[in-house]
Amino acid sequence: MKILTVVGARPQFIKAAVVSHELRKKHTEILVHTGQHFDHNMSGQFFEELNIPDPDYNLGISGGSHAEMTGKMMVEIEKVLLKEKPEWLLLYGDTNSTLAAALAAVKLHTPICHVEAGTRTHSKTNPEEINRICTDHVSTLLLASTQSGMDEMKKEGLSERGYLVGDPMYDAFIQYSGKKDVRELKMETLEGITVKVPDEFYYLTCHREENTEDDKCLREIFTAMDRLDAPVVYPVHPRNKQRAIRMRKERGFRNLILVEPVGYLESICLVNHAKKIVTDSGGLQREAFFAGKKCVTILDFVIWPETMVGKRNVLSAPKAEEILSKLAQGQKIDKNYNPFGDAQASKKIVEMLEEKI
Ligand code: UDP
Repeated sequence: MKILTVVGARPQFIKAAVVSHELRKKHTEILVHTGQHFDHNMSGQFFEELNIPDPDYNLGISGGSHAEMTGKMMVEIEKVLLKEKPEWLLLYGDTNSTLAAALAAVKLHTPICHVEAGTRTHSKTNPEEINRICTDHVSTLLLASTQSGMDEMKKEGLSERGYLVGDPMYDAFIQYSGKKDVRELKMETLEGITVKVPDEFYYLTCHREENTEDDKCLREIFTAMDRLDAPVVYPVHPRNKQRAIRMRKERGFRNLILVEPVGYLESICLVNHAKKIVTDSGGLQREAFFAGKKCVTILDFVIWPETMVGKRNVLSAPKAEEILSKLAQGQKIDKNYNPFGDAQASKKIVEMLEEKI
């Protein structure tokens, strides 16, 4: 089979890493990188560390409005699809790259396989929600990571095309955990200094549009982090960099260690060793769950309901007091509860593509 995969953002590189290795054992994969994430520490580093084959096409499209980015991507992806004529288009998650590729392919009658299908936030303000819904509705094969994805697809009449395969993020977490020694980790601060990871620390990631539109949310989040009983490691997403540097100058927030984005192996090492996690990332919420770490998610919608069981992951508004009180709550872990599959999702994804060709 000839499969064309389109990726563009950090979480997609991680999923593609595990699936591509499986796919390329028997099939031909053409890899297209839209360029949505382009900084070395948001893109190239992942390809190197995770040994992802170099993209066959790099479209170099990033920035601009949602419509601008999606439109430009559609035009270029259509050209690649017409040239390569793949049997399947393989897509991950919910980014503008996912949506653009889906819309370009469906008009060319290229069958689409969507991994992470059925994920829903039911939020009107979450920009990725429309990408998920549209991609699912034009896809031929809908592969859900969890049962809640299957349930959501049922509500939308998509069950006939839906299959539960497990979460490739869990495959990656299992395959790559332990590849780095936390005592050896070195991170570069935004001030350009190389630092080691403290013995005890919290891990913060924050990058979503909802939390980065103005200073207010980040100021509340930083205020909470500043009051914690151990330093907080925060790899700052490029979207937040200037604001974080300015806020540090204005207010100090000395309990925060502001570092450049870290590689995936470093990130899951931080997850595995942190006291607790504070995040607005869909990936981090699941990784906290995989590692058994208490997680507070600064969003007003649930994206992975499975992680919320036993208060292992709780939502908080971007308000300092609420974040701190939610972080202080305990969690209940049931070791037999494993809703993200058996770390064989990548194999199952390839098997489904073979079966449904
Ligand atoms: N991650 C990383 N380096 C960082 C921060 C996060 O490798 O500096 C990883 C993290 O471990 C997770 C993924 O990036 O696997 C999550 O991506 P992101 O938060 O960008 O997207 P989302 O999951 O919200 O779609």
